[in-house]
Amino acid sequence: MKSFPDNKSFAFSIFDDTDLSTADNVAPVYRLLSELGMRTTKSVWPLATVVEGKHGGCSLQDPEYLSFILHLQDLGFEIAMHNMRNHHCSRELVQRGFAEFRRLVGQYPRAHANHSRNRENLYWGAARFRFLKLLYALGARFAGERSFEGHVPESESFWGDLCHDHLDYVRNFVFRGINLDRVNPTMPYHDPAKPLVKYWFSSCDGSDVESFCNLLSRRNQERLERERGVCIVYAFCVRIRPEWRCAPPDRTYFTRARTTEWLVCAGFRAFGPFAASTPERPHSRYGIGRYGSTLGL
Ligand SMILES: [Zn+2]
Repeated sequence: MKSFPDNKSFAFSIFDDTDLSTADNVAPVYRLLSELGMRTTKSVWPLATVVEGKHGGCSLQDPEYLSFILHLQDLGFEIAMHNMRNHHCSRELVQRGFAEFRRLVGQYPRAHANHSRNRENLYWGAARFRFLKLLYALGARFAGERSFEGHVPESESFWGDLCHDHLDYVRNFVFRGINLDRVNPTMPYHDPAKPLVKYWFSSCDGSDVESFCNLLSRRNQERLERERGVCIVYAFCVRIRPEWRCAPPDRTYFTRARTTEWLVCAGFRAFGPFAASTPERPHSRYGIGRYGSTLGL
């Protein structure tokens, strides 16, 4: 069991995938999170979206959306990246994306999650797996899945060195349970087989309304608290908002947060107190995942 700062009983955050997001369609979610004192992580695309891309949505190139994102940052939300745009990017575009992110947001992002089938995704597809790699690659070839090359130095999509220079955390496996500490106790972890990523983090599946609501059921919240666990929901806030079934008018689920000592964290600052790189907790204690990428199949 982890110990948290200020005797908090568990850690909770949300990483919001930016697919389909506009200032209008996700603002209500952020208003609610903000009212509840929650400061989570919002991913963005720094470069304009293109029609060929999988899933549209706004980018930092849209002035109205940019001011919404900067307002979130002022409130204490963390701004992270979700590739540079909704479609493949060459190394040159990735470089431009980092520059735009820094120009518009004020600093480089610390956290990243691969987007869909972008060719420049890092350690994605078969490369995610250590033991079933060959089997997966064979299946993927039959299914017509492309290869992902962000970590391949010979590729024109290579940006692994930039990832290592600028980013601290990259999302890998997503689990159904509420407590990541049970499957991934050394998170965030470094995987020597994937050296271009400093640290990986896992997350809990909240990818649609149903999974989001199931994940945040009262039972699961109580379990997270009892187990003094860690939960980072991978969510698409844009999908949750229209129905918002898990927060009916009395806002049952999130309201509980105010009464039960959630450790509400600004995204990946959540790792701060027990991150591998902090001097109080040396790398060896939490850094190399004993379970690493082996349990996330
Ligand atoms: Zn996405």
